[in-house]
Order: sequence, then structure tokens, then C-alpha cells
Amino acid sequence: MFGVVPKILWERFYPCDEKNRIQLGTNSLLIRSDSQTVLVEAGIGEKWNQKWLDMHAVERENGLFDKLEHLGVAPQEIDTVILTHLHYDHSGSLTREREGEIVPAFENARHIVQKTELDMALSPPARVAPSYLPENLQPVQDAHLFDPVDGPSEILPGLEVVPTPGHTPGHQSLLLRDGDRTLAFWGDLFPTPQHVHPPYVMAFDLDPARTLEEKKKWLARATDEQWDWIWTHAPTPFIGRVALDGRKPVIESRSGSITPDS
Ligand SMILES: [Zn+2]
Repeated sequence: MFGVVPKILWERFYPCDEKNRIQLGTNSLLIRSDSQTVLVEAGIGEKWNQKWLDMHAVERENGLFDKLEHLGVAPQEIDTVILTHLHYDHSGSLTREREGEIVPAFENARHIVQKTELDMALSPPARVAPSYLPENLQPVQDAHLFDPVDGPSEILPGLEVVPTPGHTPGHQSLLLRDGDRTLAFWGDLFPTPQHVHPPYVMAFDLDPARTLEEKKKWLARATDEQWDWIWTHAPTPFIGRVALDGRKPVIESRSGSITPDS
């Protein structure tokens, strides 16, 4: 998760277990208006065998479908699904098993993703293939539910996706605007609060130099314009803001301020 940053630095704020595992979330965002229900990100899903669940120490309570049910939202009511990219930890709940068959979970939704990402995910080069699982994607493609976009696009009034490449070439982030307020959902550009430091780039990133460039650009803009942030992989989801203390990013959340180690 921290790329070239040595463990001696990251373990001070992300304690790990004996297998070097740290706690992470796969957080989604639900946006509702009078006429639209939008889901951003689809987590790791539930189509895993016990061996994989044990290896990753997955805590299965509070899964996406349970949360939606708790909120009184049926999967069929979702009009739009927005995905930052299609790695398995972001697209896992796009499909579900039904009577032995794997089918789209959000059958009435258009699924928004960058075209570059979709092309790569459906026929991935060998180096990236393990991150894209056909069972999460092919049933959605076969049902013609993907609605790829090319570049920055307004999906609904006030809801825009912007390319933020680096983690994958087709990675995108989401900006939700209301008047002069902006909420940003970054996907794996800034996966956890600690990743606000530009050099904290994941080893998974296909083009770390590009991620670094994108992070610097968006960090400057988001701090300047005081955007709210949501972190996909924060262990516990929260909305925070990032301010600069000199050149050092400081996170302010409703539950107090966190000063990530520099
Ligand atoms: Zn991820």
C-alpha cells in the first residue's frame, strides 16, 4: 500500500499484524436526489472462497448489499454506478451469484467508467490480468450495462468524473458539486488519508510517476478550494478536509484533526 516508503515509517501510523496486513476499507458512496440514485464504487463483493477470505482476513459484516438493504435501497433502484476503475476491490459487487449463475447486481443501472479502463479490463495484458476478474465484468458487459466515457464528463448535473491516471491508465475520480462546495471521491489516487502525502504511491500503481504528478495537481486545487474528501480505502469511512501547514498536508475530520506523519 505504501510503495517505496519503508515499513519503519508507515508502521508508525498503520500498525500491521504478524503477516504485515493492515486494516483497510472498501468504501462506497451512495448519492440520492429526487429522481436519481447513484452508487460510487462496488467494493470486493462476496464471490470469494474461504481460502481467499482467510488470506486477506476479510470481515464480511457490513458488506455493500447489507448496507444498501439497511438504507432501504434495492439494487434495482440504482440508476447509475460510477467506478473509479475496475480492479477487483472496486468492482466485486457488480455481479452476484443467483441460482448458480453470475448475473449483474445492478441490472437497471448504467455503469460509468473510462473507456480506456474498460478496454484494458476486458482484455488485460498479462501483467495486470490478476487485478481484473472476468466474473465481475463480463456479465455486465454482456448485458450492455457499461456506458464508457472518454475524458472529463458530466454524468448528472453537479456530478463530474475526471481522469486521474497513474494507478491504471484509465483511472478516474469523482467530483460532486453544490454551489461552491465540492466533495471529491478519489478512488486509488489517494486511497487512504495517509496517501495525501504525494510520495506515498502504492506499489500496485502501473505508472507511479504519473500518480505523483496527478496527486500534486489535485492536492493543490483541493486545498485551495477547500474541498471535502472521501477515501476509498480508509479503514473507517469519513469525510475530511485537507489543509496545508506549510507544505505539510493536515487532515481535518469532524472527529478532530489527524496529522499524518511526514
Ligand atoms: Zn483499490
